[in-house]
Amino acid sequence: MEYRTLPHGGERISVLGLGAGGLTGTTEEMTAVIETAIENGINYFDMATSERAPFFAYAKAFEGRREQILTQMHFGAVYQSGSYGWTREFTEIKRQFTWQLKLLKTDYTDMGFVHCIDDREDLDEVMQGGLWAYMKAIKADGVIRHLGSSSHNPDIARRFLDTGLVDLFMFSINPAYDYQAGEYAIGEVAERAALYRDCEKMGVGISVMKPFAGGQLLDARTSLFKRTLTHAQCFQYALDRPAVLTVLPGVRNMDDLRTALKYVDASPEEKDYSVISEFTPQDADGICVYCNHCQPCPMGLNIGLINKYYDLALAGDEMAKGHYQKLPVHADACVRCGHCESRCPFHVKQETRMEEIAAYFAMAR
Ligand code: SF4
Ligand code: SF4
Repeated sequence: MEYRTLPHGGERISVLGLGAGGLTGTTEEMTAVIETAIENGINYFDMATSERAPFFAYAKAFEGRREQILTQMHFGAVYQSGSYGWTREFTEIKRQFTWQLKLLKTDYTDMGFVHCIDDREDLDEVMQGGLWAYMKAIKADGVIRHLGSSSHNPDIARRFLDTGLVDLFMFSINPAYDYQAGEYAIGEVAERAALYRDCEKMGVGISVMKPFAGGQLLDARTSLFKRTLTHAQCFQYALDRPAVLTVLPGVRNMDDLRTALKYVDASPEEKDYSVISEFTPQDADGICVYCNHCQPCPMGLNIGLINKYYDLALAGDEMAKGHYQKLPVHADACVRCGHCESRCPFHVKQETRMEEIAAYFAMAR
């Protein structure tokens, strides 16, 4: 399992986390799924479930392991009826949070998220109605270690980013939504890409929900592109976006977990998602998506990473320059052999781009 570091805090987060929204079965069965996830290196757990029942499994599976795992709790998801409910009612939210901590025998959550906020009116209510103030206050007391939010809307995510107070947020990322297909394809292609870059620049991580667009991308009959993508392709696509630290597939049972875990040992060919070039909208054609389908470069350039660091540097990310300098081979080693251009399904003019990148970083030194 690969782990990525949360910039503000230093926690090491497994690139595969667990979304338990659809977890079903007896408490023993659900506990076994969570324990198997932990045994396989997963340490990041989202706690917005569709029923109250999985919380009891979390409690069992986490017993004696609190320091090994990271919890992402949602302020606004409530379970008084036994099933998921959404509220902004402050007392109910507090009651739910207190219940969760008690059940899990812990006195803190690693991540405390304003749950599912997609419109400005709702945002204003959260910011002015006391919930945000409450969350900030308990963060100051150490009860929440990192503040964040979950949203499908890049405009709302950006507003949280602008508070300067969030360390991580949950966002729906997959090739369909990024290419303006599907229910939650909110925002322009460039707006979404700019959001990910700005998060990276500000040291804010992203945990990814809906990596398969609610399962639609996994079946050609329902796929928004009329083509099946695999779990590994969807995971890799999300993990290649700037700022993404972890992807949270919604796991229903042990079979789903085992399928997701196959990503850990998947080959580069299995993770190659360059097939999405078939659906690239006009305004995204010619833009590098960092997929590395064009490898190998005879000069040993990591083409995807070089392009990513360049885009981040252009967006004002000071760290990106340092990351670029640490690469073993730089853009100035490009001999314009044309191999990558002939392989790139996104029609990126990489020879010219490498020249531009080399000149940029030479100036930036
Ligand atoms: S140049 Fe093309 S194939 Fe290579 S990483 Fe960029 S998008 Fe992928
Ligand atoms: S054109 Fe440059 S970056 Fe592309 S494969 Fe050739 S040497 Fe590598």
